Amino acid sequence: MKSVITRFPPSPSGYLHVGGARTALFNWLYARHMQGKFVVRIEDTDTQRSTQASIDAIFEALEWLGIDWDEGPFFQSKRLAIYAEYLQKLIDTGRAYYCTCSPEAIEAMRQKATATGGKPKYDGTCRKKGLEQKEGAVIRFKSPLTGTTVMPDLVKGNIVFQNSELDDFIICRSDGMPTYNFAVVVDDITMEINTVIRGDDHVNNTPKQILLFLALNCELPDFAHVPMVLGQDRSRLSKRHGAMSVTAYRDMGFLPEAVNNYLVRLGWSYGDQEFFTPDELIAKFNLENIGRSPGIFDTEKMLAFNADHIKAASPSKLIPHLMPFLKAQESDIEKGPDLEKIIPTLSSRSKTLIEMAEGAQFYFAETIQYETKAAKKFLKEATNAPLAMLADELEKLDVFDEKHLENAFKNVMMQTGLKLGKIAQPVRVALTGTTVSPGIFEIIDVLGKKRVLQRLRQALAFIQNGKQT
Ligand code: GLU
Repeated sequence: MKSVITRFPPSPSGYLHVGGARTALFNWLYARHMQGKFVVRIEDTDTQRSTQASIDAIFEALEWLGIDWDEGPFFQSKRLAIYAEYLQKLIDTGRAYYCTCSPEAIEAMRQKATATGGKPKYDGTCRKKGLEQKEGAVIRFKSPLTGTTVMPDLVKGNIVFQNSELDDFIICRSDGMPTYNFAVVVDDITMEINTVIRGDDHVNNTPKQILLFLALNCELPDFAHVPMVLGQDRSRLSKRHGAMSVTAYRDMGFLPEAVNNYLVRLGWSYGDQEFFTPDELIAKFNLENIGRSPGIFDTEKMLAFNADHIKAASPSKLIPHLMPFLKAQESDIEKGPDLEKIIPTLSSRSKTLIEMAEGAQFYFAETIQYETKAAKKFLKEATNAPLAMLADELEKLDVFDEKHLENAFKNVMMQTGLKLGKIAQPVRVALTGTTVSPGIFEIIDVLGKKRVLQRLRQALAFIQNGKQT
Protein backbone atom coordinates (compact mmCIF):
# COMPACT_ATOMS: atom_id res chain seq x y z
CA MET A 1 0.00 0.00 0.00
CA LYS A 2 1.23 3.47 -0.81
CA SER A 3 2.21 5.60 2.13
CA VAL A 4 -0.18 8.51 2.55
CA ILE A 5 1.23 12.00 2.04
CA THR A 6 -1.05 14.93 2.83
CA ARG A 7 -0.44 18.63 2.88
CA PHE A 8 -1.64 21.92 4.30
CA PRO A 9 -0.95 24.85 1.98
CA PRO A 10 -2.25 28.08 3.52
CA SER A 11 -2.11 31.39 1.68
CA PRO A 12 -0.54 33.80 4.14
CA SER A 13 -2.90 36.72 3.77
CA GLY A 14 -4.26 36.67 7.31
CA TYR A 15 -4.38 34.65 10.52
CA LEU A 16 -5.23 30.95 10.63
CA HIS A 17 -9.01 30.90 10.85
CA VAL A 18 -11.08 28.07 12.25
CA GLY A 19 -12.00 26.70 8.81
CA GLY A 20 -8.34 26.58 7.78
CA ALA A 21 -7.40 24.99 11.08
CA ARG A 22 -9.95 22.25 10.50
CA THR A 23 -8.46 21.56 7.06
CA ALA A 24 -4.99 21.42 8.61
CA LEU A 25 -6.25 19.05 11.30
CA PHE A 26 -7.93 16.70 8.87
CA ASN A 27 -4.76 16.42 6.79
CA TRP A 28 -2.53 16.05 9.82
CA LEU A 29 -4.78 13.49 11.51
CA TYR A 30 -5.12 11.45 8.37
CA ALA A 31 -1.35 11.40 7.85
CA ARG A 32 -0.78 10.45 11.48
CA HIS A 33 -3.54 7.84 11.41
CA MET A 34 -2.07 6.23 8.30
CA GLN A 35 1.49 6.65 9.55
CA GLY A 36 2.18 8.68 6.48
CA LYS A 37 3.65 12.13 6.04
CA PHE A 38 2.26 15.62 6.48
CA VAL A 39 3.71 18.50 4.48
CA VAL A 40 3.27 22.22 5.09
CA ARG A 41 3.80 24.73 2.33
CA ILE A 42 3.11 28.40 2.22
CA GLU A 43 1.35 29.60 -0.91
CA ASP A 44 2.87 33.03 -1.08
CA THR A 45 3.02 33.75 -4.79
CA ASP A 46 0.44 36.50 -4.37
CA THR A 47 3.02 39.05 -3.29
CA GLN A 48 0.40 41.76 -2.82
CA ARG A 49 -1.50 39.85 -0.15
CA SER A 50 1.15 37.66 1.50
CA THR A 51 2.78 39.01 4.65
CA GLN A 52 5.42 37.78 7.04
CA ALA A 53 3.08 38.61 9.92
CA SER A 54 0.54 36.17 8.51
CA ILE A 55 3.17 33.47 8.05
CA ASP A 56 4.23 33.90 11.68
CA ALA A 57 0.62 33.87 12.86
CA ILE A 58 -0.12 30.67 10.95
CA PHE A 59 2.90 28.87 12.39
CA GLU A 60 2.06 30.10 15.87
CA ALA A 61 -1.48 28.75 15.54
CA LEU A 62 -0.35 25.39 14.15
CA GLU A 63 2.14 25.01 16.95
CA TRP A 64 -0.48 25.85 19.55
CA LEU A 65 -2.85 23.28 18.06
CA GLY A 66 -0.07 20.69 18.27
CA ILE A 67 0.10 20.20 14.51
CA ASP A 68 3.63 19.30 13.47
CA TRP A 69 4.88 18.47 10.02
CA ASP A 70 7.33 16.04 8.48
CA GLU A 71 8.39 18.12 5.52
CA GLY A 72 8.55 21.83 4.90
CA PRO A 73 7.62 24.48 5.44
CA PHE A 74 8.07 25.03 1.74
CA PHE A 75 7.53 28.47 0.30
CA GLN A 76 6.17 28.76 -3.22
CA SER A 77 8.01 32.05 -3.66
CA LYS A 78 11.29 30.09 -3.40
CA ARG A 79 10.27 27.49 -5.96
CA LEU A 80 9.96 29.63 -9.06
CA ALA A 81 12.65 27.67 -10.92
CA ILE A 82 10.65 24.47 -10.46
CA TYR A 83 7.50 26.07 -11.82
CA ALA A 84 9.47 27.44 -14.77
CA GLU A 85 10.68 23.93 -15.57
CA TYR A 86 7.13 22.55 -15.57
CA LEU A 87 5.83 25.50 -17.59
CA GLN A 88 8.46 24.75 -20.19
CA LYS A 89 7.34 21.10 -20.26
CA LEU A 90 3.81 22.19 -21.12
CA ILE A 91 5.02 24.65 -23.74
CA ASP A 92 7.29 22.01 -25.28
CA THR A 93 4.49 19.45 -25.48
CA GLY A 94 2.10 21.97 -26.98
CA ARG A 95 -0.15 21.96 -23.93
CA ALA A 96 0.40 25.61 -23.11
CA TYR A 97 1.10 28.76 -25.07
CA TYR A 98 2.14 32.38 -24.68
CA CYS A 99 -0.60 34.94 -24.98
CA THR A 100 -0.20 38.65 -25.52
CA CYS A 101 -3.84 39.69 -25.61
CA SER A 102 -4.27 43.02 -23.87
CA PRO A 103 -6.56 43.37 -20.84
CA GLU A 104 -8.86 45.51 -23.01
CA ALA A 105 -9.06 42.80 -25.66
CA ILE A 106 -9.90 40.21 -23.02
CA GLU A 107 -12.54 42.42 -21.50
CA ALA A 108 -14.10 42.85 -24.97
CA MET A 109 -14.14 39.04 -25.43
CA ARG A 110 -15.86 38.59 -22.11
CA GLN A 111 -18.45 41.17 -22.84
CA LYS A 112 -19.14 39.62 -26.20
CA ALA A 113 -19.53 36.18 -24.64
CA THR A 114 -21.87 37.40 -21.91
CA ALA A 115 -23.93 39.38 -24.42
CA THR A 116 -24.64 36.18 -26.34
CA GLY A 117 -25.53 34.33 -23.14
CA GLY A 118 -22.20 32.51 -22.84
CA LYS A 119 -19.68 32.34 -20.01
CA PRO A 120 -17.10 35.16 -19.93
CA LYS A 121 -14.17 33.23 -21.32
CA TYR A 122 -10.94 33.75 -23.14
CA ASP A 123 -11.62 32.96 -26.82
CA GLY A 124 -8.31 31.33 -27.68
CA THR A 125 -6.98 34.15 -29.90
CA CYS A 126 -3.32 33.27 -29.26
CA ARG A 127 -3.81 29.50 -29.24
CA LYS A 128 -2.48 28.88 -32.68
CA LYS A 129 -0.10 31.82 -32.99
CA GLY A 130 2.91 29.92 -31.67
CA LEU A 131 4.18 33.03 -29.87
CA GLU A 132 7.60 33.10 -28.24
CA GLN A 133 8.19 34.28 -24.71
CA LYS A 134 8.19 38.04 -24.51
CA GLU A 135 7.75 40.89 -22.09
CA GLY A 136 4.18 41.14 -20.85
CA ALA A 137 3.09 37.73 -22.18
CA VAL A 138 1.17 35.32 -19.99
CA ILE A 139 1.11 31.55 -20.38
CA ARG A 140 -2.22 29.85 -20.88
CA PHE A 141 -3.11 26.20 -20.60
CA LYS A 142 -4.67 24.67 -23.69
CA SER A 143 -7.85 23.24 -22.19
CA PRO A 144 -9.72 20.58 -24.13
CA LEU A 145 -12.64 22.15 -25.95
CA THR A 146 -14.95 19.19 -25.75
CA GLY A 147 -15.56 16.16 -23.57
CA THR A 148 -15.70 15.94 -19.81
CA THR A 149 -13.35 15.94 -16.87
CA VAL A 150 -14.28 13.71 -13.99
CA MET A 151 -13.30 14.55 -10.46
CA PRO A 152 -13.37 11.43 -8.29
CA ASP A 153 -13.92 12.57 -4.74
CA LEU A 154 -13.90 10.54 -1.56
CA VAL A 155 -16.52 12.74 0.07
CA LYS A 156 -18.66 13.83 -2.83
CA GLY A 157 -18.37 10.92 -5.23
CA ASN A 158 -17.67 11.59 -8.90
CA ILE A 159 -18.34 15.08 -10.17
CA VAL A 160 -18.41 15.52 -13.94
CA PHE A 161 -17.39 18.83 -15.48
CA GLN A 162 -18.01 19.80 -19.11
CA ASN A 163 -14.72 20.90 -20.64
CA SER A 164 -16.61 23.42 -22.75
CA GLU A 165 -17.23 25.33 -19.51
CA LEU A 166 -13.50 25.88 -19.03
CA ASP A 167 -11.31 28.26 -20.97
CA ASP A 168 -7.60 28.46 -21.62
CA PHE A 169 -6.83 29.63 -18.12
CA ILE A 170 -3.64 31.48 -17.24
CA ILE A 171 -0.98 29.37 -15.56
CA CYS A 172 1.76 31.99 -15.46
CA ARG A 173 1.24 35.72 -15.08
CA SER A 174 3.10 38.32 -17.09
CA ASP A 175 5.38 38.98 -14.09
CA GLY A 176 6.54 35.35 -14.21
CA MET A 177 4.52 34.26 -11.16
CA PRO A 178 2.66 30.97 -11.53
CA THR A 179 -1.04 31.07 -10.78
CA TYR A 180 -2.58 29.12 -7.90
CA ASN A 181 -3.96 26.23 -9.98
CA PHE A 182 -0.64 25.63 -11.67
CA ALA A 183 1.65 26.03 -8.67
CA VAL A 184 -0.53 23.76 -6.56
CA VAL A 185 -0.33 20.97 -9.13
CA VAL A 186 3.43 21.25 -9.54
CA ASP A 187 3.83 21.26 -5.78
CA ASP A 188 1.54 18.31 -5.28
CA ILE A 189 3.45 16.40 -7.96
CA THR A 190 6.94 17.24 -6.75
CA MET A 191 6.07 16.78 -3.08
CA GLU A 192 4.45 13.45 -3.96
CA ILE A 193 1.18 14.43 -2.31
CA ASN A 194 -1.31 11.64 -2.85
CA THR A 195 -4.20 12.77 -0.69
CA VAL A 196 -5.69 16.25 -0.97
CA ILE A 197 -8.17 17.11 1.77
CA ARG A 198 -9.49 20.66 1.49
CA GLY A 199 -12.59 22.82 1.66
CA ASP A 200 -15.19 22.31 -1.02
CA ASP A 201 -14.76 25.93 -2.07
CA HIS A 202 -11.95 24.44 -4.17
CA VAL A 203 -14.16 22.02 -6.09
CA ASN A 204 -14.38 24.38 -9.05
CA ASN A 205 -10.61 24.62 -9.27
CA THR A 206 -10.20 20.89 -9.30
CA PRO A 207 -11.06 20.14 -12.98
CA LYS A 208 -8.36 22.63 -14.00
CA GLN A 209 -5.90 20.95 -11.69
CA ILE A 210 -6.89 17.50 -12.95
CA LEU A 211 -6.28 18.61 -16.54
CA LEU A 212 -2.84 19.86 -15.53
CA PHE A 213 -1.98 16.59 -13.78
CA LEU A 214 -3.00 14.69 -16.90
CA ALA A 215 -1.14 17.05 -19.24
CA LEU A 216 1.98 16.47 -17.14
CA ASN A 217 1.42 12.70 -17.27
CA CYS A 218 1.05 12.43 -13.54
CA GLU A 219 -1.25 10.37 -11.42
CA LEU A 220 -4.08 12.20 -9.67
CA PRO A 221 -4.04 12.41 -5.90
CA ASP A 222 -7.11 11.23 -4.00
CA PHE A 223 -9.40 14.17 -3.44
CA ALA A 224 -11.57 14.69 -0.39
CA HIS A 225 -13.49 17.96 -0.52
CA VAL A 226 -14.92 18.80 2.84
CA PRO A 227 -18.09 20.88 3.20
CA MET A 228 -17.37 24.34 4.54
CA VAL A 229 -17.79 25.54 8.08
CA LEU A 230 -20.75 27.91 8.26
CA GLY A 231 -22.12 30.29 10.86
CA GLN A 232 -25.37 29.56 12.69
CA ASP A 233 -27.29 31.49 10.05
CA ARG A 234 -25.77 29.06 7.52
CA SER A 235 -23.84 31.80 5.77
CA ARG A 236 -20.13 31.54 5.19
CA LEU A 237 -18.23 31.94 8.42
CA SER A 238 -17.09 35.49 9.01
CA LYS A 239 -16.17 37.84 11.82
CA ARG A 240 -19.75 38.56 12.68
CA HIS A 241 -20.08 34.95 13.84
CA GLY A 242 -17.47 35.54 16.55
CA ALA A 243 -13.71 35.27 16.65
CA MET A 244 -12.36 33.54 13.58
CA SER A 245 -8.71 33.30 14.42
CA VAL A 246 -7.57 30.15 16.18
CA THR A 247 -5.24 32.00 18.51
CA ALA A 248 -8.11 34.25 19.63
CA TYR A 249 -9.51 31.11 21.25
CA ARG A 250 -6.20 30.47 22.96
CA ASP A 251 -6.40 34.01 24.34
CA MET A 252 -9.97 33.39 25.52
CA GLY A 253 -8.78 30.47 27.63
CA PHE A 254 -9.46 27.52 25.38
CA LEU A 255 -7.32 24.39 25.48
CA PRO A 256 -5.90 23.30 22.12
CA GLU A 257 -7.27 19.79 22.70
CA ALA A 258 -10.76 21.21 23.01
CA VAL A 259 -10.48 23.35 19.90
CA ASN A 260 -9.09 20.38 17.97
CA ASN A 261 -11.82 18.08 19.20
CA TYR A 262 -14.56 20.58 18.39
CA LEU A 263 -13.24 21.48 14.94
CA VAL A 264 -12.77 17.86 13.95
CA ARG A 265 -16.30 17.01 15.09
CA LEU A 266 -17.55 19.90 12.93
CA GLY A 267 -17.01 17.83 9.83
CA TRP A 268 -16.39 14.30 10.96
CA SER A 269 -18.11 11.84 13.25
CA TYR A 270 -17.49 8.55 14.96
CA GLY A 271 -20.85 7.17 16.03
CA ASP A 272 -22.19 9.55 18.60
CA GLN A 273 -18.90 10.02 20.42
CA GLU A 274 -18.24 13.68 21.14
CA PHE A 275 -15.20 13.73 23.42
CA PHE A 276 -11.87 12.64 21.93
CA THR A 277 -8.39 12.97 23.31
CA PRO A 278 -5.75 13.89 20.70
CA ASP A 279 -4.52 10.29 20.63
CA GLU A 280 -8.02 8.99 20.13
CA LEU A 281 -8.51 11.33 17.21
CA ILE A 282 -5.37 9.98 15.59
CA ALA A 283 -6.48 6.42 16.22
CA LYS A 284 -9.99 6.90 14.89
CA PHE A 285 -9.84 9.57 12.20
CA ASN A 286 -10.68 8.38 8.70
CA LEU A 287 -11.96 9.84 5.47
CA GLU A 288 -15.09 7.66 5.29
CA ASN A 289 -16.73 9.47 8.18
CA ILE A 290 -16.28 13.00 6.86
CA GLY A 291 -19.75 14.54 6.80
CA ARG A 292 -21.58 15.53 3.67
CA SER A 293 -23.22 18.63 5.04
CA PRO A 294 -21.61 21.83 6.26
CA GLY A 295 -20.45 22.15 9.86
CA ILE A 296 -22.24 24.86 11.80
CA PHE A 297 -19.84 26.75 14.02
CA ASP A 298 -21.22 27.37 17.50
CA THR A 299 -19.02 29.02 20.11
CA GLU A 300 -21.26 27.84 22.95
CA LYS A 301 -20.74 24.25 21.88
CA MET A 302 -17.01 24.76 21.66
CA LEU A 303 -17.15 26.17 25.18
CA ALA A 304 -18.83 22.97 26.37
CA PHE A 305 -16.01 20.96 24.76
CA ASN A 306 -13.53 23.20 26.53
CA ALA A 307 -15.18 22.59 29.90
CA ASP A 308 -15.01 18.83 29.31
CA HIS A 309 -11.34 18.94 28.30
CA ILE A 310 -10.44 21.11 31.28
CA LYS A 311 -12.20 18.64 33.55
CA ALA A 312 -10.38 15.70 31.98
CA ALA A 313 -6.89 17.23 31.91
CA SER A 314 -4.35 16.50 34.63
CA PRO A 315 -3.07 19.49 36.62
CA SER A 316 0.41 19.12 35.18
CA LYS A 317 -1.03 19.30 31.69
CA LEU A 318 -3.09 22.38 32.50
CA ILE A 319 -0.38 24.35 34.27
CA PRO A 320 1.50 25.60 31.19
CA HIS A 321 -1.77 26.69 29.59
CA LEU A 322 -3.05 28.32 32.76
CA MET A 323 0.16 30.14 33.62
CA PRO A 324 -0.20 33.07 31.17
CA PHE A 325 -3.61 33.89 32.62
CA LEU A 326 -2.32 33.74 36.19
CA LYS A 327 0.52 36.05 35.21
CA ALA A 328 -1.84 38.42 33.41
CA GLN A 329 -3.89 38.90 36.58
CA GLU A 330 -0.66 39.30 38.56
CA SER A 331 -1.27 36.39 40.89
CA ASP A 332 1.79 35.90 43.06
CA ILE A 333 2.04 32.16 42.73
CA GLU A 334 5.58 31.85 44.04
CA LYS A 335 4.66 31.35 47.67
CA GLY A 336 1.98 28.79 46.92
CA PRO A 337 -0.30 27.05 47.49
CA ASP A 338 0.69 24.39 45.05
CA LEU A 339 -1.03 24.69 41.67
CA GLU A 340 -1.22 20.92 41.42
CA LYS A 341 -3.53 21.01 44.43
CA ILE A 342 -5.44 24.13 43.41
CA ILE A 343 -6.40 22.97 39.93
CA PRO A 344 -8.52 19.94 40.91
CA THR A 345 -10.69 22.19 43.08
CA LEU A 346 -11.49 24.36 40.05
CA SER A 347 -11.46 22.07 37.05
CA SER A 348 -15.10 21.07 37.16
CA ARG A 349 -16.13 24.69 37.76
CA SER A 350 -14.25 26.36 34.89
CA LYS A 351 -15.40 26.59 31.29
CA THR A 352 -12.24 28.45 30.31
CA LEU A 353 -8.74 28.91 31.66
CA ILE A 354 -9.59 32.54 32.30
CA GLU A 355 -12.37 31.42 34.63
CA MET A 356 -9.96 29.01 36.24
CA ALA A 357 -7.34 31.70 36.77
CA GLU A 358 -9.95 34.02 38.25
CA GLY A 359 -11.20 31.23 40.45
CA ALA A 360 -7.65 30.58 41.67
CA GLN A 361 -6.93 34.18 42.54
CA PHE A 362 -8.04 34.00 46.16
CA TYR A 363 -5.63 31.16 46.94
CA PHE A 364 -2.63 33.42 46.36
CA ALA A 365 -3.92 36.59 48.01
CA GLU A 366 -1.85 38.03 50.88
CA THR A 367 -4.95 39.58 52.37
CA ILE A 368 -8.49 38.83 51.37
CA GLN A 369 -10.62 41.55 49.85
CA TYR A 370 -14.22 40.88 50.86
CA GLU A 371 -17.09 41.44 48.51
CA THR A 372 -19.16 44.13 50.23
CA LYS A 373 -22.41 42.19 50.16
CA ALA A 374 -20.79 38.96 51.33
CA ALA A 375 -18.97 40.69 54.17
CA LYS A 376 -22.10 42.48 55.29
CA LYS A 377 -24.10 39.28 55.39
CA PHE A 378 -21.55 36.88 56.83
CA LEU A 379 -18.82 38.76 58.65
CA LYS A 380 -20.81 40.30 61.47
CA GLU A 381 -21.10 40.15 65.24
CA ALA A 382 -23.12 36.91 65.17
CA THR A 383 -20.41 35.03 63.28
CA ASN A 384 -17.59 36.21 65.49
CA ALA A 385 -17.98 33.36 67.98
CA PRO A 386 -18.11 30.42 65.54
CA LEU A 387 -15.19 31.82 63.54
CA ALA A 388 -13.14 32.36 66.68
CA MET A 389 -13.97 28.87 67.92
CA LEU A 390 -13.06 27.32 64.59
CA ALA A 391 -9.76 29.16 64.61
CA ASP A 392 -9.03 27.71 68.06
CA GLU A 393 -10.04 24.21 66.98
CA LEU A 394 -7.91 24.35 63.84
CA GLU A 395 -4.98 25.76 65.73
CA LYS A 396 -4.93 22.59 67.82
CA LEU A 397 -4.75 20.30 64.80
CA ASP A 398 -1.47 18.74 63.80
CA VAL A 399 -2.95 16.77 60.96
CA PHE A 400 -4.96 18.87 58.53
CA ASP A 401 -6.84 16.12 56.66
CA GLU A 402 -10.52 15.82 55.87
CA LYS A 403 -11.30 13.67 58.92
CA HIS A 404 -9.69 16.05 61.39
CA LEU A 405 -11.20 19.09 59.68
CA GLU A 406 -14.67 17.59 59.87
CA ASN A 407 -14.14 16.94 63.58
CA ALA A 408 -13.08 20.53 64.14
CA PHE A 409 -16.25 21.77 62.43
CA LYS A 410 -18.35 19.30 64.43
CA ASN A 411 -16.92 20.61 67.67
CA VAL A 412 -17.88 24.16 66.70
CA MET A 413 -21.33 22.98 65.66
CA MET A 414 -21.78 21.32 69.01
CA GLN A 415 -20.57 24.30 71.01
CA THR A 416 -22.68 26.82 69.10
CA GLY A 417 -25.68 24.72 68.15
CA LEU A 418 -25.31 25.98 64.58
CA LYS A 419 -25.73 23.85 61.46
CA LEU A 420 -22.74 23.31 59.18
CA GLY A 421 -24.10 25.72 56.52
CA LYS A 422 -24.30 28.55 59.05
CA ILE A 423 -20.65 28.09 59.88
CA ALA A 424 -19.34 27.17 56.46
CA GLN A 425 -20.57 30.28 54.68
CA PRO A 426 -18.83 32.82 56.96
CA VAL A 427 -15.73 30.65 56.78
CA ARG A 428 -15.97 30.69 52.99
CA VAL A 429 -16.16 34.48 52.96
CA ALA A 430 -13.27 34.67 55.39
CA LEU A 431 -11.11 32.39 53.23
CA THR A 432 -12.08 33.55 49.76
CA GLY A 433 -13.79 36.94 50.07
CA THR A 434 -16.88 35.64 48.24
CA THR A 435 -19.85 33.35 48.72
CA VAL A 436 -19.12 31.13 45.73
CA SER A 437 -16.08 28.88 45.71
CA PRO A 438 -14.98 25.26 45.67
CA GLY A 439 -16.00 23.10 48.64
CA ILE A 440 -14.98 24.47 51.99
CA PHE A 441 -12.95 21.42 53.05
CA GLU A 442 -11.17 21.38 49.73
CA ILE A 443 -10.18 25.02 50.14
CA ILE A 444 -8.98 24.52 53.69
CA ASP A 445 -6.96 21.52 52.62
CA VAL A 446 -5.31 23.43 49.76
CA LEU A 447 -4.65 26.62 51.72
CA GLY A 448 -3.06 24.78 54.62
CA LYS A 449 -3.14 25.57 58.30
CA LYS A 450 -1.08 28.74 58.30
CA ARG A 451 -3.04 30.55 55.63
CA VAL A 452 -6.41 29.40 56.98
CA LEU A 453 -5.64 30.69 60.48
CA GLN A 454 -4.29 33.94 59.12
CA ARG A 455 -7.46 34.47 57.08
CA LEU A 456 -9.78 33.56 59.94
CA ARG A 457 -7.97 36.08 62.13
CA GLN A 458 -8.19 38.71 59.43
CA ALA A 459 -11.95 38.10 59.30
CA LEU A 460 -12.24 38.33 63.08
CA ALA A 461 -10.37 41.63 63.06
CA PHE A 462 -12.67 42.82 60.31
CA ILE A 463 -15.73 41.93 62.37
CA GLN A 464 -14.33 43.78 65.35
CA ASN A 465 -13.26 46.88 63.45
CA GLY A 466 -16.15 46.80 61.01
CA LYS A 467 -13.76 47.45 58.17
CA GLN A 468 -11.13 45.91 55.96
CA THR A 469 -7.69 45.83 57.56
N1 GLU B 1 -3.77 28.04 -0.63
C1 GLU B 1 -5.10 27.53 -0.73
C2 GLU B 1 -5.98 28.16 0.31
O1 GLU B 1 -5.50 28.73 1.22
C3 GLU B 1 -5.19 26.04 -0.55
C4 GLU B 1 -5.18 25.34 -1.81
C5 GLU B 1 -5.34 23.85 -1.76
O2 GLU B 1 -5.60 23.25 -0.72
O3 GLU B 1 -5.18 23.27 -2.83
O4 GLU B 1 -7.17 28.07 0.22
